[in-house]
Amino acid sequence: MKLSPAPAKHPAATIERIETVLLDLPTIRPHRLSVATMNGQTLMLVRIHCSDGVVGVGEGTTIGGLAYGGESPEGMKLAVDTYFAPLLKGADVTRVPALMAQLDRSIKDNRFARSAVETALLDAHGKRTGLPVSELLGGRRRERLPVAWTLASGDTARDIAEAERMLDLRRHNVFKLKIGARSVVEDVAHVAAIKRALGERGAVRVDVNMAWSELQAARGIAALADAGCELVEQPVATASALARLVRRFPVALMADESLHGPRSAFELAKLAGADVFAVKLEQSGGAYAAQQVAAIADAAGIELYGGTMLEGAVGTVISAHVFATFANLQWGTELFGPLLLTEEILAEPLDYSDFQLTVPAGPGLGISLDEDRVQFFRRDRATRTVSLANTTKGG
Ligand SMILES: [Mg+2]
Repeated sequence: MKLSPAPAKHPAATIERIETVLLDLPTIRPHRLSVATMNGQTLMLVRIHCSDGVVGVGEGTTIGGLAYGGESPEGMKLAVDTYFAPLLKGADVTRVPALMAQLDRSIKDNRFARSAVETALLDAHGKRTGLPVSELLGGRRRERLPVAWTLASGDTARDIAEAERMLDLRRHNVFKLKIGARSVVEDVAHVAAIKRALGERGAVRVDVNMAWSELQAARGIAALADAGCELVEQPVATASALARLVRRFPVALMADESLHGPRSAFELAKLAGADVFAVKLEQSGGAYAAQQVAAIADAAGIELYGGTMLEGAVGTVISAHVFATFANLQWGTELFGPLLLTEEILAEPLDYSDFQLTVPAGPGLGISLDEDRVQFFRRDRATRTVSLANTTKGG
């Protein structure tokens, strides 16, 4: 079934071609979570070529392949190539919400792939109209976003040294520690040592990535509160267990994996099941859905945090545009994904300074890809093995 273009009063542009590519990028160090250890990150880039010459770009990324959820970069590429692209080809590209609603009739779930496609459409429409995506989405309320850093080397001394370096650089002063892979006692000792070393210079939060039982969580959160930890993210797997733990301790509890877009946000809000929501664009199903999650949180008195799926530059920037529009963003963001990668794929790097990220101001996403870098890191680049082998021999 082809989508019928909605009638447009201004000159319509249509979608001519959709291109997807997988990029494999190394990380600066192994990133250890309770669910996976990442040594690299795979980005699925989607480019939507329009009849008026505009090209929009979007990104789909996961944490540790399928370790975090049901979609992988490879699966997203397949979904976009096989199912999204034929529906989109020839459609009016100037009506982004209407086009996404039409797609939803034929494609269920696939929130990450959906988010990547929606990002590309918004980027294209912003470039077409000369407006930053944050303006298309209702207008930005802030130009810069606080950015937390995740300490996840798995080694206490190395994490402290890394935190000190970030403080010296004035890049981050909020630190999220990934725990849950070791025993509760070992994890609490690790967190307490880092908080002791940083003192008032740095805030310490933890992410358990659902690794604890409810009983482990009750013990662990009490000890973490004593250690000076200010927030615990997704200590348990289920929404009901999380709701039972909320407000028993003098620390904030944040829902992350439990949030899968507006419907789950509403269910959690009804249960008063979290103090804070970690809003993620891909988990939500895209920019508009993330804004709905934020509105539900605001109405329920739940505070907000801008989360990441460790996206590269494109996924990070669309998130920044959306978080810039939120009425409340009490806990800042963790939009550090591009800083975890060794390679820059933008023509001009993002501005991370004074503990914050600047939301780009140009039309669309306000960024441009370095095409040579993109081509070099393509998974399907036949000559890459050869050139790397040559480099090794030469060096
Ligand atoms: Mg998390």
